[in-house]
Amino acid sequence: MKTYLVGGAVRDKLLGLPVKDRDWVVVGASVDDMLAQNFKQVGKDFPVFLHPETGEEYALARTERKVGPGHRGFDFDSSTEVTLEEDLIRRDLSINAIAETESGELIDPYGGREDIGKRILRHTSDAFVEDPLRVLRVARFAARFHHMGFEVAPETKLLMTQVVEAGELGTLTSERVWNELELALTYQAPSEFVRVLRECGALAVILPEVDKLFGVPQPEKYHPEIDTGEHTLLCLEQARKLTDDPAIMYATLVHDVGKGLTPPDKWPSHYGHEKSGLRLLEDLEQRLPVPKEFAALARLVCEHHTKLHRVQELKPKTALGLIESLDAIRRPERLEKFLTACEADARGRTGLESRDYPQQDYLRAIHKAILAIDNSEVLKAADASERGNPKTLIQKARLQAVSETIEGLRSE
Ligand code: ATP
Ligand code: MG
Repeated sequence: MKTYLVGGAVRDKLLGLPVKDRDWVVVGASVDDMLAQNFKQVGKDFPVFLHPETGEEYALARTERKVGPGHRGFDFDSSTEVTLEEDLIRRDLSINAIAETESGELIDPYGGREDIGKRILRHTSDAFVEDPLRVLRVARFAARFHHMGFEVAPETKLLMTQVVEAGELGTLTSERVWNELELALTYQAPSEFVRVLRECGALAVILPEVDKLFGVPQPEKYHPEIDTGEHTLLCLEQARKLTDDPAIMYATLVHDVGKGLTPPDKWPSHYGHEKSGLRLLEDLEQRLPVPKEFAALARLVCEHHTKLHRVQELKPKTALGLIESLDAIRRPERLEKFLTACEADARGRTGLESRDYPQQDYLRAIHKAILAIDNSEVLKAADASERGNPKTLIQKARLQAVSETIEGLRSE
């Protein structure tokens, strides 16, 4: 029996990246051999074990045979005869199909090292098309390694298109799809995830609301890049510079989906896209298990982002309404997330990437003035006749504070 380090650990070491978790493959061992060595079996579909001390994953080398549709439509053979090469060829990408022996020797039958050198994401074999999850994984690796110069090989793009055209993406569970999307939103270049998926047709299946934005024009005066899809990608790039928070990235990704509903005879204006986008977000949340916090923030950004862009023109009542809609009095951290997504939207425009965005501090000042109000003081100061209606009293005090703050800001 022989044990090899495989997958991401070998790849990341060759890339000079820190190694997070290590995956191992075991050749020439049976389930009983592993159990006899106190490994704990965990795999349901095929034998995977946890090391009794390190807890790291050890999988028996296996081959797979396509027997049904989708990511799980495989029969596995993990007998002791399966070779390392046979196990490596079933892996998605050449850069993920390199093994390392205990003495540090690399076994690389499918050109993984060469592709690492050339910065290419290339499928290991034509069996790539058998598992639709690989389409999302490749897009995710493109997002993860874009900053290092990696690109998807043209022949791999062809296979990805083939998988999409065969309708195989529809067999993935919504949890899988969301999981891949959320991971992609944590990487350096989430915009690459969207680009790669769009190119192979997968975006139209997974995120049709975003796919529809490509080809939709916006007024050049505010959007020199014109195309709404391109604007969305630029926004993701700007958002990445501002935050690591995947909820903000998600909100940025979907902030303009309403523009996909504008009838073409109304282009390039998009009157009412903020509200109409909410309907599409609902569809999206029906389809994918978007976490509550992500969904809530995305709805707020979708509905209110244009209000922040013109916050200096808002009447006190509208400005107060914005703060209340954001629930910012109870949840200041949500205000900050909203502000960040709006900043990404303002900067995700060609030539405007480093513009000032004083709207943030403007709304923060209003927010601060509202927070400074002492409700019990307000009630105490009121006439006895007014005290029966504390809500109205506090509302009046807030409006007063917002008005004064705005006056102060305008005279600055
Ligand atoms: P990470 O650093 O994110 O863990 P990884 O490449 O190790 O990256 P894992 O999801 O841990 O990714 O999978 C381990 C290895 O298993 C991969 O490197 C790849 O060789 C193989 N693999 C995982 N999922 C698939 C799949 N759907 N199809 C083919 N091979 C896969
Ligand atoms: Mg791994």
